[in-house]
Amino acid sequence: MVDQDGERYGNECLPYDRFGRVMAAAPERTPSWFVFDAREDGRLPAIAMPEGDAAAHLAAGTWVRADTIEGLAEACGLDPATLAATVERFNGFAASGVDEDFGRGTDEYDTFFASAGSPNKALVPVDTPPYVAARFVLSDLGTKGGLVTDAAARVLDESGTPIPGLYAASNSTASVFGSSYPGPGAPLGAAMTFASLAVEDMLGGS
Ligand SMILES: Cc1cc2nc3c(=O)[nH]c(=O)nc-3n(C[C@H](O)[C@H](O)[C@H](O)COP(=O)(O)OP(=O)(O)OC[C@H]3O[C@@H](n4cnc5c(N)ncnc54)[C@H](O)[C@@H]3O)c2cc1C
Repeated sequence: MVDQDGERYGNECLPYDRFGRVMAAAPERTPSWFVFDAREDGRLPAIAMPEGDAAAHLAAGTWVRADTIEGLAEACGLDPATLAATVERFNGFAASGVDEDFGRGTDEYDTFFASAGSPNKALVPVDTPPYVAARFVLSDLGTKGGLVTDAAARVLDESGTPIPGLYAASNSTASVFGSSYPGPGAPLGAAMTFASLAVEDMLGGS
């Protein structure tokens, strides 16, 4: 993942909420370009995002494709020499198995969804043309702030007293996890749990 200077800026294997925070930390990181190659039949080598149709992306310009890294950079509006140097450096890390810049593949989480790289599962060289770059911007998948509730999903007023008859769960509430994101399933899991607790309370705590 490179910024508008054609340079990497973080460990791309971070959980997506944490990588989003890294991306949001500097304006030149939006949009970013996700650079990949033809290894997986030209498919986006990543999880947790709806990929869509490659032809439709290419027609829309959200993906660009070229036979060389320099050509790819030109299509993205990036400096060709910088992007070529970034890819060359990254491919060196893939060969050695050590990402000297951002430690990608050091944490076990980084390798959970990865299998192709050797000696480091999370580091696969970008060397098989044609090359593709997908344009990335930040998005949201949920919210953290909202009504404060108790363990029975009852909405609390400013003094911390339950408001009779008012319950809330999911994105309308302050997250039970605070500002952190423990992992996929946390939003829906918390939503179902607190909705269930609300119904139990309505039924008299049965
Ligand atoms: C791309 C993506 C991937 C995700 N992946 C996961 C995952 O893997 N695991 C996980 O746990 N969570 C995931 N989430 C988060 C999870 O889907 C949400 O946190 C959850 O769906 C929120 O539920 P909700 O009922 O609070 O809100 P919503 O599901 O947004 O429901 C709100 C509803 O209210 C309706 N509405 C809005 N305004 C009005 C109005 N004025 N009148 C009537 N109706 C209205 C909306 O149309 C909507 O149907 C993902 C979210 C996204 C976007």
